[in-house]
Amino acid sequence: MSMHTLIQWTDSTVNPVGGCGGCELWVPGAPIEEQTCYAGHSTQWRKGKNRAFAMDFNVPELFPGRMAEAAAWSDLLGKERA
Ligand code: SF4
Repeated sequence: MSMHTLIQWTDSTVNPVGGCGGCELWVPGAPIEEQTCYAGHSTQWRKGKNRAFAMDFNVPELFPGRMAEAAAWSDLLGKERA
């Protein structure tokens, strides 16, 4: 979650939920080299370092208040954009 992000196609991000119950792209318990879900790998790399991510991708986690916080950020109305 960030008001400013380096992601090219957006200005801000918010993750009100982290983690996932899994699918064929991320099978809990399978070797990491066999997992192909980007969100799963991203969580493995960033958990504990970035509060946007769940501590365990296999256990979906709610982050109460994040949407309300993001909804209070200013929009792009009246701003010049490149
Ligand atoms: S987030 Fe990953 S594991 Fe979850 S449904 Fe999507 S692709 Fe599958």
